[in-house]
Amino acid sequence: MSATVLVTIAADFAARAHVGARRKGAAGEPYINHLAEVAALLAVATQGEDAVLIAAGWLHDTLEDTATTCEQLEDHFGPEVASVVAEVTDDKSLPDAERKRRQVETVTGLSARAQLLKIADKTSNLRALAASPPVGWDRDRLIAYIDWAEAVVGQCRGQNGFLDAVFINARDTARRESDAKIAKDGA
Ligand code: ZN
Repeated sequence: MSATVLVTIAADFAARAHVGARRKGAAGEPYINHLAEVAALLAVATQGEDAVLIAAGWLHDTLEDTATTCEQLEDHFGPEVASVVAEVTDDKSLPDAERKRRQVETVTGLSARAQLLKIADKTSNLRALAASPPVGWDRDRLIAYIDWAEAVVGQCRGQNGFLDAVFINARDTARRESDAKIAKDGA
């Protein structure tokens, strides 16, 4: 399968798997926007050279958030794409706090591709947090999320200058927006 075909069918598969899903933010953005952003970041970061990684970017939340199985990913996209997606998938049977703690603990053991995907994912999430914070999140929750994203990504820096820079930019913007929110809410 050519690189273009692989990436295009991954985008199509992701759009179908997440159909109707929305992001947590108040704006209720379609979930596919997050996947497109992550895939685009990875495409630019690798100058379009790593189709396996870009396809995994489109598919990275299918195991965690949809009925898709690892076997299906393997059948459609091959073992390399499936294994990157599996690497960035949390164990949903664990409580949220434990899942977050594990991400920090295990990130250095991930493959290089999975680490780049983590940076792109957290960048997209911090951008969304700054642009449209989830309803009901107070200042402490916003700051805790930013700190956690930083703890995960801080350990995989240094492999890709572009992704390092976009993450730092997203983190700083998210911190500024959280501070502005505090001022506005009078918290
Ligand atoms: Zn994601």
